[in-house]
Amino acid sequence: MAPPPTPAPPSQPSTDTASAAGRCPLCDKPTDAGYRPFCSKRCADVDLHRWLGEGYVLPGTTPADPDHWPTDDG
Ligand SMILES: [Zn+2]
Repeated sequence: MAPPPTPAPPSQPSTDTASAAGRCPLCDKPTDAGYRPFCSKRCADVDLHRWLGEGYVLPGTTPADPDHWPTDDG
C-alpha cells in the first residue's frame, strides 16, 4: 500500500514586492494600496486626527489650560 501523493505546497509570495510597497509610518505594517502610505483606514484616521488636532487651535490664540477655560456656570 503506497501512501497517497502529497499535493505540492503553494508557491510563497515573493518578498521583493513587499519592499516596494513600503510600510505604515504609524505601526510599521505593510502599506495598503488603498490607504497609502498607511496600512489601514484605522491608521489613516489616526494620522488625520493628529493633523486636525494640531490645527484646531486658531492662529493668534494661545492654547490655554483647562483650568482657565471659560465656563457656562456664570
Ligand atoms: Zn498602520
